[in-house]
Amino acid sequence: MTGDAPVLLAAREVSKSFGSLKAVDRVSLEVRRGEVFGLAGPNGAGKSTLFNLLTGIPIRPDSGEVVFDGREIQNRSPRLIAKAGLKRTFQTEAVFDSLSVMENLRVSSAYGGAGRAVRPDPARCREALDVVELGGDPERPADGLSLIDRKRLMIACALVSRPALLLLDEPAAGLDPADQDALIRLLGRIAGSGVTMVIIEHVLSVLEALAGRMAVLDSGRIIATGVPAEVLSDPKVVEAYLGPGAAR
Ligand code: ADP
Ligand code: MG
Repeated sequence: MTGDAPVLLAAREVSKSFGSLKAVDRVSLEVRRGEVFGLAGPNGAGKSTLFNLLTGIPIRPDSGEVVFDGREIQNRSPRLIAKAGLKRTFQTEAVFDSLSVMENLRVSSAYGGAGRAVRPDPARCREALDVVELGGDPERPADGLSLIDRKRLMIACALVSRPALLLLDEPAAGLDPADQDALIRLLGRIAGSGVTMVIIEHVLSVLEALAGRMAVLDSGRIIATGVPAEVLSDPKVVEAYLGPGAAR
């Protein structure tokens, strides 16, 4: 269905080195409007660095282009990228502990919301809490939240400005199987509401459940792209995860 949809995000030959380490090495990929695109790969493969390059936080590519919604964004400020409708979450549950649930949403809607004078919209904040099913008193402090609820809040903060594209960095990390299932349902609902997503995930069942297509990064390079069942049985991918000889 999304095969004919327009490309929403394209990375073209994007590279980033740290000293002699090529963390992201000429990566190209296309994400179509409406799809859930998975990104997997061993630790240190360059997945989070790629997200950093796509969002300008906190680094930019050494070379290559990032095109979002038809415009090159690799030289735009992170704030303008967010305003254009590209939001992300971080690998650690980045919420402001000392602020309440609602204050976290207000801060987030002030950053990267649409329009010039950005005023937090209470209706949108409540809508975001509903989507992630984070109930309870919205004025309670964030530091008392369980891990899954911190993840819900982080995702709600990203959704509050109604982004076109949401990048999620290892959303299932640290969750037990029951909470992983809850997260899969939650992300499925968000995808169903029309938000395009790129999900970095080690928990491959999450990608199998949600991703229409996925890519695997290894040592900064994309080594496979396609539907999850094919990619995950690709000998190159098995070897990258389990070491030489594992695929035989
Ligand atoms: P992944 O998310 O796939 O586990 P990362 O993108 O975090 O991998 O890291 C890719 C490689 O780049 C790793 O070797 C990591 O140590 C290195 N790296 C990431 N960020 C920096 C940085 N700011 N400075 C130096 N090296 C970095
Ligand atoms: Mg990472």
